[in-house]
Amino acid sequence: MGINYVSTRDSKKQEITASQAILKGLADDGGLFVPTSIPKLDKSLEELSKMTYQQVAYEVLKLFLTDFTEEELKHCINSAYDAKFDTEEIAPLVFADGAYYLELFHGATIAFKDMALSILPHLMITSARKNNIKNDIVILTATSGDTGKAALAGFADVKGTRIVVFYPKNGVSKIQERQMITQKGDNTHVVGIKGNFDQAQTGVKQMFNDKELAAELDKAGFQFSSANSINIGRLVPQIAYYVYAYAKLLGEEKVSDGDTINVVVPTGNFGNILAAYYAKNMGLPIEKLICASNENKVLYDFFSTGEYNRNREFILTNSPSMDILISSNLERLIYHIAGNDASVNADLMESLKTTGKYEITPQMRAELDCFYGNYASEEETGEAIRKLYEDTGYIIDTHTAVASSVYNKYKAQTGDDKTTVIASTASPFKFTRAVMGAIDSAYETEEDFVLVDKLSELGKVKVPNAIEEIRTAEVRHDTVVEVDDMCAEVKRFLGI
Ligand SMILES: *Cc1c(COP(=O)(O)O)cnc(C)c1O
Repeated sequence: MGINYVSTRDSKKQEITASQAILKGLADDGGLFVPTSIPKLDKSLEELSKMTYQQVAYEVLKLFLTDFTEEELKHCINSAYDAKFDTEEIAPLVFADGAYYLELFHGATIAFKDMALSILPHLMITSARKNNIKNDIVILTATSGDTGKAALAGFADVKGTRIVVFYPKNGVSKIQERQMITQKGDNTHVVGIKGNFDQAQTGVKQMFNDKELAAELDKAGFQFSSANSINIGRLVPQIAYYVYAYAKLLGEEKVSDGDTINVVVPTGNFGNILAAYYAKNMGLPIEKLICASNENKVLYDFFSTGEYNRNREFILTNSPSMDILISSNLERLIYHIAGNDASVNADLMESLKTTGKYEITPQMRAELDCFYGNYASEEETGEAIRKLYEDTGYIIDTHTAVASSVYNKYKAQTGDDKTTVIASTASPFKFTRAVMGAIDSAYETEEDFVLVDKLSELGKVKVPNAIEEIRTAEVRHDTVVEVDDMCAEVKRFLGI
């Protein structure tokens, strides 16, 4: 039976195929695409425990992307999870201080976004071919740092695609900027804007919604698409690593078949933890989904009270990829806990848009039993990095540290010490300054690349290629434009 996709806001439940949903990204009504049902794993955990990462990924993807052939899926998977990753395991598990860290940062840009963005370009061009689309796909992205680089790395030199990334010229870290402006690939274009991230994002959304521009593009043989985290083509590949983690624990006899585990996820846009929720609903034995927030604790408040309220101060933290007040992917969960009711969801989202908040019913809240939410302050996050390093020698990044701190709170509160997997979402080298500062404040005055070498020495891990490369790489992108000139810049790049 094929799985189709419907919009979370469409009460008529008009279905489209997986490849169409990947091409569209967002539904026309502003909703997100969700599968018409969540398929069950059709291989036993025992069988999965003997598979490689790529084989497990196939077993998951084939159940969700049912209009892709086996050959197409395997081609996409093998093009994504290859030597771009610095370990054959792709997503290794590391045990430290009572929990398993699932390292999702071994890809090209050393953050977990690579897990999905290395396969999305392949899923997208395969989708274009399946739907007889002749145009080149132009990916437009606004980034506050991590997504932009991961998307660039994923789409660079992928035939039939172009990618344009806008970032706030003075709003990303030095390492993040260098990662982007040294990007190779003739189909890539990186543009700094004289404005902030919100302005970059608004500019991109305006281009997406501009019908005249779309017509102009079409005439020239192009069409826009989006690589952001609401695309179902990003969500589905993320389910695979939870299945892989469990299978690995089983294969190494760390759990027995059917034992439940807990999963802890440092959360921003709610994509990563939603993938774990889907994995659980596919039959993977997960007990608790532990949602970890930083000081922007909208989700903690939501799980505690049933009210989602974005009307609050936006706090800049050392875990910037989680500095989010609207967790877009939460909409998918809301739709599911409303009994897949699009009109209930659409009303709540309308309320979020107009008043900045909404409240779910007690009945919906009861469906959230498998979630536990908490948050870590900046101080607690730094403390988690320092303590884990001192106790075990293992060094984690600031985002992962939020999860680690929240996990310790969960254990202290509940006494539940069942086997637990913590999603480790970035290499500490990506956030060297904050990580080293947490270990010892004396490091705060050192230069970035001096700290990189020091981190390598302390953690006894090699400096990742992604960092080594940018020390000396040539700057290939130096375009900076006014916010109002974003569209003109896209046209210039495309030669129209
Ligand atoms: C994007 C990101 C997150 C948040 O993930 P979501 O899927 O948006 O919840 C956490 N940590 C890092 C390092 C990230 O880049």
